[in-house]
Amino acid sequence: MSRLDTPVFAGVDIGGTSTQVVLCDGELTVLDRAETATPAGRGGRAMIAAALDALAVVRARTPGRLAAVGVGAAGVVDAASGHVLVASDSFTDWAGFPVTAALRTALGVPAFLDNDVNAFLRGEIACGAAAGEEDVLGMTLGTGVGGALWTGGELRTGAHGAAGEIGHVPGFGDLPCTCGGRGHLETLASARSLRARYGERTGRELTAREVADAARAGDADARAVYAAAGAGIARAIVMTAGLVDIGTVVVGGGVSGAWTLLEPLIQERLAAEPPISGHPVKLLRAALGNDAVPLGAAARARHELTGR
Ligand SMILES: [Zn+2]
Repeated sequence: MSRLDTPVFAGVDIGGTSTQVVLCDGELTVLDRAETATPAGRGGRAMIAAALDALAVVRARTPGRLAAVGVGAAGVVDAASGHVLVASDSFTDWAGFPVTAALRTALGVPAFLDNDVNAFLRGEIACGAAAGEEDVLGMTLGTGVGGALWTGGELRTGAHGAAGEIGHVPGFGDLPCTCGGRGHLETLASARSLRARYGERTGRELTAREVADAARAGDADARAVYAAAGAGIARAIVMTAGLVDIGTVVVGGGVSGAWTLLEPLIQERLAAEPPISGHPVKLLRAALGNDAVPLGAAARARHELTGR
């Protein structure tokens, strides 16, 4: 085959502020990439048009025949029909939007849709930190806390697409959560919460990263805020291990940037409360950074077409 005939897969990450596109080969090696602002306030049609423009840029300069496209999008999605079901307030006319139908029509190739955290986990398992693992909990510690579950070598979506959403289960204190519930892990371990919890203790306004720096420098309040996050994350891991016997957890998102601070705090609690299986859960930091979601979306497209 000439390079023009070589099949390539596109992965698209539609986030609240930016949309990333990667083009990769059958081994998920990134051939090219582009990024554009997400017009989240202008509706689904405009958001897909922006993604298509970014894709056209990489297609124009990268040889290969587009075989399929995968999309990772924030919110609750119907992975079977390719519709967004529930989107946050920052998106206009996104809930209900037929994402895969719009892409299929525009590009003439199969298109697939996943929730972004599910795509993140698929990416880390396909070619990242958890490569080849069979039973994995994925957690993203960003503005919020996302979760995804992979068991028996397959992604679990559950009855309503929300399997693995360990960030929004009660039992992690009593603080109000952004989702309307109380006592969720997100109130301890998201970037927004780390900032808020530190502010409540000290009256000082620092970013989550600055709180991490303060903890490393010996600030007791900052240390306590991260210790609570670490304990919550460990509890979420132990709960999941008890329920579905995961062997591995992979943690991504901006907060995981403070890994050297966070990891020992999580490990300390995991050692104190080992899973009933008697096997410790392997704790991994995500390896793909911002590429995890688009690469996971491309991996879904590859999987649907080739079975890999
Ligand atoms: Zn919540």
